[in-house]
Amino acid sequence: MELKAFKWNQDGEGIVTLTWDDPDRTMNVLSNTAMTDIAAAIVKIAGDAAIKGVIITSGKANGFCAGAALDEMEGSASGAGAPKSEEERVRERYNGVLQFNLLLRKLETCGKPVVAAINGLALGGGLEVTLACHYRVVADNPKIQLGLPESKVGLLPGGGGTQRLPRLMGAQAAISLIMQGTSLDPKTAAAQKMVHKVVPADQLIAEAKRWIKETPDAVQPWDKKGFEVPGGLPNEKGSSTVFTMGNALYRKTSFNNYPAQRYILSCVYEGLAVPIDAGLRIEARYFTKLLMDPASRNMIRSLFLSMQDLGKGARRPANVAPTTVKKLGILGAGMMGAGVAYVSAQAGIEVVLLDTTLEAAEKGKAYSTKLLDGQISKGRSTEEKKQKLLGLIKPTTDYADLKGCDLIIEAVFETREIKAGVTKQAEAQLSDKSVFGSNTSTLPITGLAEASVRPENFIGIHFFSPVDKMQLVEIIMGKKTGDYALAMAVDYVKQIKKTPIVVNDSRGFYTSRCFGTYVGEGQEMLAEGIAPALVDNVGRMTGMPRGPLELADDVALDLAYKVREQTKKDLGDKYEAGPADTLIETMVAKLGRFGRKNGKGFYDYPADKGGKKRLWPGLKDIVKFKITSSTPELVDELKKRFLYRQAIEAARCFEENVVTDPREADVGAILGWGFAPYTGGPLSLIDTVGTKKFVEECDVLAQKYGKRFMPGKLLRDMAEKGDTFYGRFKPATKKAA
Ligand code: NAD
Repeated sequence: MELKAFKWNQDGEGIVTLTWDDPDRTMNVLSNTAMTDIAAAIVKIAGDAAIKGVIITSGKANGFCAGAALDEMEGSASGAGAPKSEEERVRERYNGVLQFNLLLRKLETCGKPVVAAINGLALGGGLEVTLACHYRVVADNPKIQLGLPESKVGLLPGGGGTQRLPRLMGAQAAISLIMQGTSLDPKTAAAQKMVHKVVPADQLIAEAKRWIKETPDAVQPWDKKGFEVPGGLPNEKGSSTVFTMGNALYRKTSFNNYPAQRYILSCVYEGLAVPIDAGLRIEARYFTKLLMDPASRNMIRSLFLSMQDLGKGARRPANVAPTTVKKLGILGAGMMGAGVAYVSAQAGIEVVLLDTTLEAAEKGKAYSTKLLDGQISKGRSTEEKKQKLLGLIKPTTDYADLKGCDLIIEAVFETREIKAGVTKQAEAQLSDKSVFGSNTSTLPITGLAEASVRPENFIGIHFFSPVDKMQLVEIIMGKKTGDYALAMAVDYVKQIKKTPIVVNDSRGFYTSRCFGTYVGEGQEMLAEGIAPALVDNVGRMTGMPRGPLELADDVALDLAYKVREQTKKDLGDKYEAGPADTLIETMVAKLGRFGRKNGKGFYDYPADKGGKKRLWPGLKDIVKFKITSSTPELVDELKKRFLYRQAIEAARCFEENVVTDPREADVGAILGWGFAPYTGGPLSLIDTVGTKKFVEECDVLAQKYGKRFMPGKLLRDMAEKGDTFYGRFKPATKKAA
């Protein structure tokens, strides 16, 4: 039989092996082509008496199937090219979703035993295909991941996952896996009844054939008479608490910002109470509802498609041949230098870690030892791997050791003179092809490059703390930075498996500048008399990972004070003073409250309570709390202030050419400072609200709270023309793998 994404092979005993190997993609996904193939294959399998059973496996070395083709789905979710009524679009989406569900239903009721021989990762729709098989056998490889990660991009498993998984392992275990999007290795998956058996990779097909021959009348458990859901039905004692607890946990952790999470609970609750066919229709309805929700479209675009494009080097200059960093020099082995050394050695790069004393350099290397010991204790690494990685890091004080480095990352103190000194000393050891990257968080790159003899090879490579956990790296172009330096910086970030965004030089670059507005708005609210607990709680309700006041304490209030004073000096008459200026001055200059670092900020950090913080009671003596309890209207207004203030700053960065690609503005915001992920990022937020409405609402906020809410020229022009960021500044799209 001729198929496009699958190869059909029928043996002498009537067993068909369908090998999934889409020639147009590097990884198998549930594309329209793959689904058309599956549909055609089922008709043939069901109708041909000579076929005794089916094995579905993969021909790709990198996995079985990675899930839905999100690149195809994003277009349809946005309703692109569909001048139809809302009702027609909903119906069309629903029929499309249901069709896939019916397809898998046909697979499991085709009358022949169907086995999934899983020889690589099976995620999302990929796992759902296997769940519709009667038997799942997996290769014994702990690196294989099996799971339903849809909720991570704002979706739910819409191919029967919310129905079949709970019927296999019980509601409690399934809900936890689906809501968190956790994947399991083969042995854990077998222990949790997600799969049946784990065998050595070379025995997969033999085991599949054995099972087919032994089970000619295979039937799914839920199609057998008297089937009972493990753990009981949702309304039965024992099982019902799963849903009440699950709902409470969902509200507590997501503040109801993520509809996918809520719908997953509903699918399982409502679906388990009815036969599977009705359950699949329930799932299809919730899935359709999600697809019509801008939150899922925005999340798919930013958290999957844009991240993938940027990770593949979408912003890399094409005129430079690919580069590889073999030897990296790090100047300064403090908190950041030590983290960069670890992630680079992890990618197999030889690292020279330089500090002013050998003791300081070795302390930097010891950070890697600490991280690796932690991993070994959790069974995630081995002593052998640890020694290999540590062997790549050479602590030193000798600049001559930098000879042969392809790239330098400078992470010494944030002082212009010290940075200029180390730049000169390092460059004396480097070749013309070496690139010098500074990890400065505040000093403009163009100014720092003045100390360099090769300013075209000087660039900003801004990591976030903690380096091993934070996925984003902000690459900053100085005025004289050339394409070669940019290409190497992007290639290096790719080498260490992080996501780069490329921005132009500006005060605070892109991320620090916008992040500062969130923290600053929280301080303005407090200075206006809104109780601090309310300020931080609403910050979290907005979808930000932490409240603005606790974040301000972590970053350090004296630093914020210094930056404000410098900005005042630099902007002169243009500086718009707000109530928070006096508040911060009092906290820092009068009261010596510098934040978490001296145990005294908006919060106290009493040493006797293990550093567990509590709001500083003295705050009420310097601010009169006028608003101490919330109403839904107040919460909405504060949420809007938090989100819009950051979004306006992101739009300003766009207008000023600091950030030039909407994908980078959105991905940088979510990964860099935790901007509410369900919005898809600040520019997606503006697009979703609509520029006209956004500008009108900002004008109202500006009248009430000050010029900081005033939209810039670009936003006003876009509002007038009805433009969106993604429409007007359309990024070059690349087909996902
Ligand atoms: P840190 O104080 O922890 O480390 C600085 C290290 O540089 C120290 O080990 C110090 O001994 C060393 N050093 C100082 N002068 C030196 C010299 N002349 N030669 C060699 N080594 C020297 O600081 P950090 O937090 O790691 O920050 C380093 C840089 O990274 C700064 O520019 C900072 O702005 C930037 N940064 C920091 C963060 C953060 O969250 N801490 C985030 C992004 C960027």
